[in-house]
Amino acid sequence: MGNVFDLSDAFGPLKVIHVHEPACGLKGILVVDNVARGPSIGGLRMAEDVTLDECARLARAMTFKNAASGLSHGGGKSVLVGDPKMPKDEKERLIRTFAAALRKETDYIFGPDMGTNEECMAWVHDEIGRSVGLPSAIGGIPLDTLGATGFGLSQAIDIAKDQCGMNLSAARIVIQGFGSVGQHAARFLTEKGATLVGVSDSHGAIAHPDGLNVAELIEIKKQGQSVVESGQSKVISADELLALECDIWIPAARPDVINESNMNSVKAKIIAQGANIPITAAAEKALHERGVICLPDFIANAGGVICAAMEYAGATQDQAFNAIAEKIRNNTQTVLERMAQDKITPRQAAEQLAKERVLAAMETRRFNLF
Ligand code: NAD
Repeated sequence: MGNVFDLSDAFGPLKVIHVHEPACGLKGILVVDNVARGPSIGGLRMAEDVTLDECARLARAMTFKNAASGLSHGGGKSVLVGDPKMPKDEKERLIRTFAAALRKETDYIFGPDMGTNEECMAWVHDEIGRSVGLPSAIGGIPLDTLGATGFGLSQAIDIAKDQCGMNLSAARIVIQGFGSVGQHAARFLTEKGATLVGVSDSHGAIAHPDGLNVAELIEIKKQGQSVVESGQSKVISADELLALECDIWIPAARPDVINESNMNSVKAKIIAQGANIPITAAAEKALHERGVICLPDFIANAGGVICAAMEYAGATQDQAFNAIAEKIRNNTQTVLERMAQDKITPRQAAEQLAKERVLAAMETRRFNLF
């Protein structure tokens, strides 16, 4: 294992806390990266192979994502070693113990991430009163049910479409991954007149140039079936889905799905990144040079974290959705303007924006990171 100080640079981390409680087999880590903008928000990830390095990288990503979203929150992350599918009473005991051990770490607000959900956030809330992504029964805004991230994506696309003179009512969209993000993005965009011409989930992909029935596909997913079982159209391969004739392509599943080996088959004019890091850095640069607008993940998919921060501030559902629209529209506009003016990629523009916002907050502090 490397030296913990190897993680340090000008932005953080401010604190790294190792939590160990042998009585219940608890092993966890909290990394509070930077709280110059306010207390950090970041997910609690539970998996058997989590590491300090992963936790620190995710905490840094949250520092930039929260700053880019214009939230008064810094970045942090926590990880808990264990199988997230363990018996519920064991999982509850571990999460409650972890939260109790971090009771005094008011610089960190727990959120859901891989292996944790709103019920886990309710346990943390009950224990220490400091978590987001809560069930509606205790004042939460159910962001996945309402589609906060899919809504935010549709707002980013609404701004980007003007850059390429696209009319949404004539736009053909393709979505890879038909889960929480993908389904709601499909719903919001087709409500604006766009046509869904291709879609996939982990079981396969379907396509139809005249359009697929979104409400029917959502219903099929609710029943636990795959889009390929809808009978709406012929089944195609993942490569064919990427190469479909369309205007907007939305990755909403896994990382690195667009890479150097397949990037040349992309026909879309806009790629709106619902998933985190769905395009490799080299492919993103090459697509930009070809004139494809790649809306960066931490700008376009920030709807969820904006909703969570609004929930923490006691906002209503309407206020949260208004904040998502305003922040994502403004940020997308700024990123695209800088892209054009400074001849840089949207990702470079977004990173610049996030760093400036963190640095501006750091300058107001007696110390830097807090
Ligand atoms: P989800 O589990 O609800 O849905 C994921 C979907 O992707 C499922 O339909 C699954 O079948 C499909 N899928 C999995 N592997 C696939 C593959 N190889 N090809 C095609 N489809 C595949 O997850 P989600 O909450 O919709 O999140 C999707 C992505 O968006 C993740 O990368 C997540 O980190 C990111 N994200 C989610 C949110 C949020 O608010 N939920 C916010 C920001 C980013």
